Amino acid sequence: MRRSFETADPLIPKSAPVKKKSIRISYDALRIVVSLILTAFLIMGMSLFRINQYKSAESLTEQELAELQRECDALLEQTRELQDELSYVENKNKSSQSILNAQAEDLTERTTTYQQKLDTFTQMTAELQDKLDELAKAKQGILDKLNEIPYIDGFDEIASTDTAAIMNMGYSTDPLVNLQARFEALLEMAEVEQASYDKLVTAYASAETTLNNYPTIWPVKGAVTSTYGNRTNPMGGTGSEFHSGLDIKASTGTPVSCTGGGVVKHAGEYGSYGILVIVDHGNGIETYYAHNSDVKVSVGQIVERGQLVSLSGNTGRSTGPHVHYEVRLNGTAVNPAKYVSLMPS
Ligand SMILES: [Zn+2]
Repeated sequence: MRRSFETADPLIPKSAPVKKKSIRISYDALRIVVSLILTAFLIMGMSLFRINQYKSAESLTEQELAELQRECDALLEQTRELQDELSYVENKNKSSQSILNAQAEDLTERTTTYQQKLDTFTQMTAELQDKLDELAKAKQGILDKLNEIPYIDGFDEIASTDTAAIMNMGYSTDPLVNLQARFEALLEMAEVEQASYDKLVTAYASAETTLNNYPTIWPVKGAVTSTYGNRTNPMGGTGSEFHSGLDIKASTGTPVSCTGGGVVKHAGEYGSYGILVIVDHGNGIETYYAHNSDVKVSVGQIVERGQLVSLSGNTGRSTGPHVHYEVRLNGTAVNPAKYVSLMPS
């Protein structure tokens, strides 16, 4: 528009350069057209640029959206997977829990059973200990008797173990440890006892003949009316006399037993002894059974412990039916109580 004012500028001469004027107009028009075209192009370019820009922006958003969609899908997929995994883990946990519960229950049951068994074994150990003690005591009783008998060897070396120490053994807080320690101690004791019993058997075997011949029992069962040693004269009178044996009350005809194995040395009348049986047991030991009514053995006969040798009576220097039992060691009368004490009366 400004250009059209310029063309009507009054300073420019009107006559001569008409052509010039038209050229100028054309030039101006061209300038305007060019300007317009340029402007249009500019506007178009800008519009296109903006459109493109818009379009690219739009496409970018679409891409982003698609990308976001994909990401969302992936996230959803992952979430589902996680959900599945979580369910799997939960299920697994549940089954693990039930397994654990079952195991705990089983463990409790086992513990109870274990405790019961432990109690039983503890009881059994105590019983075993008692039995071993009884055996040891019984053996000691035999040994005490055997040790009273001379002429035999090996018995004094045998000793019994003492289980009292086992009961007082050091305590652990673990009852199983205590039980095991006691068991081991008892086993050890049983081995020691076993060894001592073996010794006993061996010693007995080597001393068997001596033991069989040794006078150990009562010739008759009855009241002892007179013991070994000094006593008032039973026949009356004053003072005392030495009594060389045991007087055991027995009605006439009572079977009299030999008190140990041996050989009959005498069977018949023998002065004040009346009808007498003498048995030789070896090792210088002899036994006398006096005042019998009859004899049941003959001289030289081999007799065993407990065998009938005579019938009791009242023969010889006697004040009534009884058995005068005498033990002689190397010819000297000794106290028979020491011998008969080896067996219960
Ligand atoms: Zn007598």
